[in-house]
Amino acid sequence: MPRKARGTSPPPNADAQLRVGIGYDSHPFVLGRPLTLGGILIPSEFGLDGFSDADAVCHAITDAILGAAGLGDIGEMFPDSDPANKGRDSIAMLEAAVQRLAGAGYAVRQVDVSVITERPRLAAYREKMRARLAAALGIDSASVSVKGKTNEGMGWIGRREGLACIAVATLKGNQ
Ligand SMILES: [Zn+2]
Repeated sequence: MPRKARGTSPPPNADAQLRVGIGYDSHPFVLGRPLTLGGILIPSEFGLDGFSDADAVCHAITDAILGAAGLGDIGEMFPDSDPANKGRDSIAMLEAAVQRLAGAGYAVRQVDVSVITERPRLAAYREKMRARLAAALGIDSASVSVKGKTNEGMGWIGRREGLACIAVATLKGNQ
């Protein structure tokens, strides 16, 4: 059987429509604001500062799915210049991004998130976050992963000035 020539396109299949996106977000800690991560209110004396509800998990995922679809980013969809976005529920923002994806022929397949923070410990809230995010994304909670990590005491995260999230999302296209 002759070898395939270099540069030959693979045959069309489901994976040919697989798209991958990455999202990053960070917010500073402040006293007196609620701490909401992945749509779950976490009891805490400090929260995250930001124009919206500052849910960095939702924001990183929103950027990951928009990025995977090549549909811009969360800042374009929900600009700080629009007063309607002040204090906005980030689960609703995520749902709106999922709708935009659907309009372009994409559906979320799977999401993986790392939350990098020294405090609070997130393990007790992880399953709730997965379920809430999965509902917003229209997928099974088995397809949503949320992991907590510290920054080993280094840098601004180590000094407990705020937290950061990194999300990776895969999409399937239906066109
Ligand atoms: Zn954010």
